[in-house]
Amino acid sequence: MSAARNLQAPQGNFLDHPSTHGGIIYGPFENGPMKLNLGVNILGTGPKACSFNCAYCDLGETSMRLNKLKSEVPFSSIESVTMAINQAFQKIHSQGPSVDGICISGNGEPTLHPEFPEITKLVLSARDIWMPGKPVSVFTNGAALDTRRVADAMNLVEHRIVKIDAGNEKLFKHVNSPLSRTNLAKVLAGTRKLKDVIVQSLFFQGEVSNIGTSDIDDWIEVIAVLKPKAVHIYGLSRPSAVAGLARLDEDTIYSIASRLERKTQIKAIVTP
Ligand code: SF4
Repeated sequence: MSAARNLQAPQGNFLDHPSTHGGIIYGPFENGPMKLNLGVNILGTGPKACSFNCAYCDLGETSMRLNKLKSEVPFSSIESVTMAINQAFQKIHSQGPSVDGICISGNGEPTLHPEFPEITKLVLSARDIWMPGKPVSVFTNGAALDTRRVADAMNLVEHRIVKIDAGNEKLFKHVNSPLSRTNLAKVLAGTRKLKDVIVQSLFFQGEVSNIGTSDIDDWIEVIAVLKPKAVHIYGLSRPSAVAGLARLDEDTIYSIASRLERKTQIKAIVTP
């Protein structure tokens, strides 16, 4: 999934010059509670590749069908990722700026990359050489967590960040529109296989909304069962895939966070 805010969007600047990194490295960018992160986009610079079609996605609608992924997505090769991360991490090491972490995210859902586990290990190795001690995060929509090799790779990094914006199947379909037979129960079952997790949730109103009283109650119930180490709550901050979505005022977002904390004692960090 996209890295936070409307969640996995690469936001490039000084390190992502295509001639040197093929669009694989982006940022560093401010990523809410994760602070200043360097992004690693392993999905290439072609069309967005995702197994969801979230109403609020700032990468636009998911037009690519899952059965076309292998033939149409220019997934970054292991060789190109190795070269890009080593160049970029070495540059950060020698010239700065200092970053707070590295995030694997980008142009859709990173676990769709057929070599996601291998690439995750490469990022960790390069981090150990050039940026020791900096945490690696992976942002995911959770749809592939029932695959053992994906869950195992997720368990290697420091932060596993899973998107949960809805607490019941009906709203999940409405908000996240999975392209496969994935449902919320499957995402939750996969998430429970992780050794720990941070949940990331985005709330909004308008043509589609996930802030009805029962929506929030159901979401809190799901979070209570998952027992994440933290919940990162976001408001809408960029144009969304579906027209007519609106940003919440800060009071509403903070009140969702305090309801969660009151009922579950789980820490909620808000980026309105
Ligand atoms: S559709 Fe949803 S899961 Fe996929 S990239 Fe966009 S926000 Fe992330």
